[in-house]
Formats: sequence, structure tokens, C-alpha cells
Amino acid sequence: MLSEQLRSSMAEARGARPPSRAEEMNPFEAVRWFFDRAADHVGLSDEMRAVLRTSYREIAVQVPVRMDDGRLMVFNGYRVQHNAARGPYKGGIRYHQDAGLDEVRALAALMTWKTAVVDVPFGGAKGGVQCDPALMSAGEKQRLTRRFTQAISYILGTNRDIPAPDVNTDAQTMTWLMDAYSARYGYTPAIVTGKPVELGGSYGREAATGRGLVSCLAEAARDLDVDLEGATVAVQGFGNVGSWVARLIGELGCRVVAVSDVRDGVYRADGLDVQALADHARESGSVVGAPGAERITNQALLELDVDILVPAALDRVINAANADRVMARLVVEGANHPVTPAGDAILQDRGIVVIPDILANAGGVTVSYFEWAQNIQQFRWEEDRVNDELSKTMARAWAGVHARATADGIPLRLAAFAIAVERVDRAARLRGYV
Ligand code: NAD
Repeated sequence: MLSEQLRSSMAEARGARPPSRAEEMNPFEAVRWFFDRAADHVGLSDEMRAVLRTSYREIAVQVPVRMDDGRLMVFNGYRVQHNAARGPYKGGIRYHQDAGLDEVRALAALMTWKTAVVDVPFGGAKGGVQCDPALMSAGEKQRLTRRFTQAISYILGTNRDIPAPDVNTDAQTMTWLMDAYSARYGYTPAIVTGKPVELGGSYGREAATGRGLVSCLAEAARDLDVDLEGATVAVQGFGNVGSWVARLIGELGCRVVAVSDVRDGVYRADGLDVQALADHARESGSVVGAPGAERITNQALLELDVDILVPAALDRVINAANADRVMARLVVEGANHPVTPAGDAILQDRGIVVIPDILANAGGVTVSYFEWAQNIQQFRWEEDRVNDELSKTMARAWAGVHARATADGIPLRLAAFAIAVERVDRAARLRGYV
């Protein structure tokens, strides 16, 4: 018997109108919109749909931090656990002013679908603290991380929930998290991934998301008949994901003509010297001002006439307002949820192929799985082994998504979600969730 609440939630899911250009959804509604389309496509039961449309657990915590000048600031922190049918909750922690509950919830659900697409034995979670780390000292960030870890530690665990880096958090942040957790529960390297190699991190983890995206693109280009030799690429974001994509994509014969960061972008028609750019960004804090390159805005970068566009910064950057002006032939989603449902519909109408986030950027969580497995076994893999297993995983995931898209005549995003929803549905049924 379906409850009243379940009936109304089903009616809402079924009654969903296609996204119009005028209205954009918040991030969680958007991820749910993609999920609902996949649930319709695979004929998911109403009961399972009701379970998977919402998070299992969401906690909001207060994170008080004594700042260097003596003031006490109280930040909002969140950890959302979406689903663990296929394994422990897994997902990054983001430090950003916009990392509110809706955003964290959306990203947690995306993690469930992402771990399922690449078939690593994890569920989905995400965390966030609403702060601006650019305005904080290292000491303030360390105190913030320790307080946040303390506040959420009772729902973490090496077989329960394993965080990782995300926007504005890195190997150092993960070390503070591990240390704070270990102080309470004993030495526990497998509590977090993305650690420095000296403290149980995996070789290859830092580059993994970018490397995974590039492996996936290599496979996709072959199947989609895209010539990568001399293909032009624009990358939005020059952090962990974007900088590694820019560094590695040249190995496929592509030419990176534009990159950007939060300040702005740089463009050079003949191709940028990515290593020189990385050196300049490290020294000056931004890609802006790199010698021999012309300055462009982030908006202009998205609209460049290039073969391949890789949004690798923040979410919702391609939307109803600008999707008409995207000129790339192929969009490869390095960031999570960079294209809104309305933007996606426009790109689809215009014949622009999108390799979705839950596939394209899954290299990070794949190598996080390798790191966790190494920590549990107290054994280290060589970097070649990590990279080799990563490219095999990405190739297998791409082949599955491409085959499904071709067989069912559907876009890659719907195919990826369909595969993920079926895997989670199967695991949840075997466990007896419904
Ligand atoms: P990061 O903090 O290392 O880098 C973010 C980059 O985006 C920086 O260059 C920053 O300057 C830029 N940026 C920030 N705000 C911007 C704005 N308003 N306009 C343009 N650029 C802006 O973060 P990251 O780890 O590279 O993550 C980037 C995206 O990739 C996020 O969506 C994240 O969720 C996703 N992702 C990250 C990983 C990972 O392993 N780090 C894995 C999967 C997905």
C-alpha cells in the first residue's frame, strides 16, 4: 500500500514538465529531475523511487572557529548520506560560501549514481561547510576542519562513510580530518581518501579525476568518431580537476586553447603552454596574466568555438541563459552538475554531445576506492598499477554507457543514470530495503 505522502511524491515525479528556459531548478531538484527521467526509463517501482528520491540521513552542524584576530565565527556544516545499498557512503567535502543543504544534498545523490556507474562498492554522500577559505589562514582552516570532523565523526567510519577532497579542500585538509578522527578512534587512515602519499594516500589520486576524464574521452572519441588530433579544448577551472585535464589532454593530440579560474580566463588560438601556465598560476595564484595569452572572461570561455569544452569549476554554469551560445561539439563534464536540465535540453536539441559528470569525473572516486582498499590491506600499489586499473575502469564504464545509449536510442546522461539506478535498485532489493 502506498502512503499518501508517497502518492503525492509519485504524482510530483510523474507530473514533471520538461524544464523550460524561464525556470531553473535548485541543484537538488535538478539531480532529482535527471533521476526521475531514468526511473521512468527503467520502470523503477514507486516504492523504490520513493526511497531513492530522498537522502537517508542529513545532518547540519554548527562549526565554531576562533579566528586569528580573536573573534569567534560560527559556520554552517553539513554531511548528507544519500544511499549505501552498494557499500559505505562516499563523497567529498567542499568549503564554499554556496555549500548549503540543497547543494550538498544534490552532490550526495550524484555520488550514489557515480559510484554505481563505475561499479565501485560505495554509496553516495557529500559534505560542505559554508565559508570562504580564500579569506582564512591555514590555522583557521585547520581549526575549522577539526571542529567539523568532531561534529560529524559519529556518522563516519571506514565501513560507514569515507570523505574525500572537493572544491577548496585538498590533501592537507584530509590529513587534518584523519588526524582529528584518529585522535578519538585510534589511527585510521582508511577514514578518508585523497591523503598525501606519505600518510597512506594513493599514488595517482591527485591526478585521478583529470586522468579518468581524459581516458574516458579517448574511448568516447573512438566510438563517436571524433578526431582528437589537433582538436581544440577549453577548460573552465584550473584547480585539481581542470589543471590535470589541461596537463593530460595533450597526450591525446588535443590543443588546449583556453583555461580559467575564479578570477578570469586566458586564451591563445595556437594553444597554451600548459606547464608554463601551471607555473605561473602557482607563483601568482591565478592563470590570469600568463605571458603570451589574451585575457577572456569565464562566460566567453564557455562560448568559444572549440571542439571540446570541459567545465571543471562549479555547478550550473551552462544553463537556459547561455546554452544557445555554446559552440563546442562535445561537452565533457569535469565539474559536478555543470549543466542544468534546461541547459541540457538545449544542448541536446542542438546536437551537442554531453559526457555526463557521473561518468566523466568518476576517476577521482575510482582511485579513492583504490586508496581505501590499499589502506585496509596496509599495502601500497605502484602508480602504474593505479593508472592502469583506473583506465580499465573508465573504459568499462564508458563502454557500458555508450552501449546502453545506442541500444535504447537515448542520450549518454540518461543511459548513465539508467545503469546506475538499475544497479542501486538491484542492491537495495537484495538487501531487502523494500
Ligand atoms: P578546486 O578547488 O581544486 O578548483 C576549483 C577551480 O574552479 C579553481 O581553479 C577556481 O579558481 C575555479 N573557480 C571557482 N569559482 C569559480 C567561478 N565562479 N568561475 C570560474 N572558476 C571558478 O576544485 P576541484 O576539486 O578541481 O573541483 C572542481 C569541480 O570538479 C567541482 O564541481 C567538484 O565537485 C568536481 N569534482 C572534483 C573531484 C576531485 O577529485 N577533486 C572529483 C569529481 C568531481
